[in-house]
Amino acid sequence: MRRFPHRPADTGGQIHDRHPEDGVLNRRLAEALARPAAQQPCWPVPERARAVVEQLQQADPIVTPSDTARLSDRLASAARGEAFLLQGGDCAETFADNTVSHLRANLRVLARMADVLTHATDLPLVTIARMAGQYAKPRSNAVDASGLPVYRGDIINSAEPTPAARTPDPQRMLRAHVNAAGAMELVRRFGGSEVYVSHELLLLDYERTVLWADDSGPEARLMSGLAHFLWIGERTRQLDGAHIAFAELLSNPVGIKIGPSVTAELAVEYVERLDPHCTPGRLTLVSRMGNGLVRDVLPPIVEKVSASGHQVIWQCDPMHGNTLQAGNGFKTRHFDDVVDEIAGFFEVHRELGTHPGGIHVEVTGEDVTECLGGASGIGERDLPTRYRTACDPRLNAEQSVELAYFVAEMLAG
Ligand code: PEP
Ligand code: MN
Repeated sequence: MRRFPHRPADTGGQIHDRHPEDGVLNRRLAEALARPAAQQPCWPVPERARAVVEQLQQADPIVTPSDTARLSDRLASAARGEAFLLQGGDCAETFADNTVSHLRANLRVLARMADVLTHATDLPLVTIARMAGQYAKPRSNAVDASGLPVYRGDIINSAEPTPAARTPDPQRMLRAHVNAAGAMELVRRFGGSEVYVSHELLLLDYERTVLWADDSGPEARLMSGLAHFLWIGERTRQLDGAHIAFAELLSNPVGIKIGPSVTAELAVEYVERLDPHCTPGRLTLVSRMGNGLVRDVLPPIVEKVSASGHQVIWQCDPMHGNTLQAGNGFKTRHFDDVVDEIAGFFEVHRELGTHPGGIHVEVTGEDVTECLGGASGIGERDLPTRYRTACDPRLNAEQSVELAYFVAEMLAG
């Protein structure tokens, strides 16, 4: 596949492209990026950000097109009910934790979860890590409790609580790319089963850079070289916004998070926009409703999307609808709520005769104390002992494997 020839915006129609579709793609990309984009940093010196974008346009890809194409095949099986998708990893990767031991621990816990799930059913498992690029975070507030600009992930600013550290720095996109390349190298060497990588399609100045021109499908598209799979988050899924328009242009498999405010009609609009050619597994709908709502909110969505004829992957994120603040101020989640949301998700799909296609979880192979409950009974007073996440609370290794046993039972039952 050939690298996408980015064209400076001001050359308009003056260049005669060797491939006429490149002109169309350049125009569609510019149109997508010109739309309102939520959750973007305000770079203090925009010319510096532009220079970094131009540098990244020449950078090496993180993934290969053939691996991404293979993932699309695997996801088509999951959409048809013939495979199960396990996706997980850190809420936010950090440069400091981009170490062999941390990455291996996370890959190992995903592999253990995959083993548990595979033994329970005959379904092949597809594993996607939140890794090698999960550096940008959407935030609910622009400032933190002490009035500083909020931490938006290592690709944008530093978590250190000083005004200088919190100022968005575009050079961080170059560091993110180098770190992602290192992490991907380790994923490749990890061996064993296939592991694909994913991150949230959030920071458009990063996502717009490393692209291929993909003429293999029914329409010319762009393939991201930065991850096999990208998803749009709950806070950036505006129908008229840049994230949806950018994802429409991609040939990679994509996901979209849907929270409890999403109606069945809106879900169908997402599906029609993001899967216009009815490609099984092209789109993963990641429901994150909360355990109290999933049983009520999900059924009409599943019914209406199924009736549309599109074959999506139904994936349950049991983390983001179940975040709570502990009495001692820690942001946490309870293991029982996580299990219960997945149980509700399975109940809904069993009732409707649709395939519960996967789970999307925040986990780490490390022995952290960030989520409550589980077999070792982590309580509120245990949270401060090893609370290490840069953003949301993750299940630790023991809780992750325990969760896999619960899900295995549901899959087998
Ligand atoms: C996330 O996956 O870390 C996240 C921010 O999720 P959501 O967009 O569903 O809130
Ligand atoms: Mn998160």
